Amino acid sequence: MSELSFKDKVVIITGAGGGLGKYYSLQFAKRGAKVVVNDLGGALNGAGGDSAAADVVVNEIKAAGGIAVADYNNVLDGEKIVETAVKNFGTVHIVINNAGILRDSSFKKITEKDFKLVLDVHLNGAYKVTQAAWPYFRKQGYGRIVNTSSPAGLYGNFGQTNYSAAKSGLIGFAETLAREGERYNIRANTIAPLARSRMTETILPPPILEKLGPEKVAPLVLYLSHEESDVNGEIFEVAAGFYGQIRWERSGGVLFKPDETFTAEAVAKRFSEILDFDDSKKPELLKNTHPQALNDYASLTRAA
Ligand code: NAD
Repeated sequence: MSELSFKDKVVIITGAGGGLGKYYSLQFAKRGAKVVVNDLGGALNGAGGDSAAADVVVNEIKAAGGIAVADYNNVLDGEKIVETAVKNFGTVHIVINNAGILRDSSFKKITEKDFKLVLDVHLNGAYKVTQAAWPYFRKQGYGRIVNTSSPAGLYGNFGQTNYSAAKSGLIGFAETLAREGERYNIRANTIAPLARSRMTETILPPPILEKLGPEKVAPLVLYLSHEESDVNGEIFEVAAGFYGQIRWERSGGVLFKPDETFTAEAVAKRFSEILDFDDSKKPELLKNTHPQALNDYASLTRAA
């Protein structure tokens, strides 16, 4: 396979002043992309700001002969970030929604402020940047979006109701973007990575951190962003060299007949059948539209 080039492509990477985003930026630039390195340079909990975070990355790219511009806006001002891309490079082709913060707290103690702020940065920030880029994607018949979820968004994690909710939200967001963008050659996918960064360096032991370099996540992000990739609406787990796809599975289920009484007791009685995956289906996203799902239920009714 020939090298996947990003020559003349404009990519916005949010939260690119450190960790994963920094590494993505360097890789995109190395392959010829014009990179908008967005980062407001705040602390892990989102407090404060410092333009140095994005500047350092841009300087590194330029020193290596690449093309990049720094952007210090909050992702919640997504239109300004897209404006930076358009002003400097004429358009935007790829958005990597990567910016994130942590405000961990048990659910018992979490404050509304900490709950909402985490949703804002991860989910509403991704919405704002993507929505500002969308008209450019549609007009040029090309756009790639990679959202950053997390194992916490797939499976939950103690102390992270805010983060898990935001990270699951990013999955549904990409799934619907995938549908709406399909005919304009816009592709939207989600990754759930685990990597060494300031988010993990205080909670994982050094021997594990050593294996979690960002260079093991970036190749998937690059591939999903490339015009040759048609992958759309999918979810991937990626860490330490492992690459796997996540998908939905629906149990064979139970159909209560119309003459049966629909009661909680009836559900309780047949609950083990509801949970029985022996006869399961794996709904495929783009083939399994909402009306299609309704059809599935209808055919069950006919069979009953
Ligand atoms: P990181 O803290 O190094 O990177 C996040 C960056 O986002 C920071 O540079 C920060 O300044 C920036 N940022 C925060 N709020 C912003 C805002 N409002 N506007 C613009 N920039 C903002 O951590 P990372 O591990 O590289 O995280 C990258 C992404 O990967 C995050 O979305 C994170 O939730 C996700 N993730 C990371 C891991 C992991 O193991 N490191 C696991 C799952 C998901």
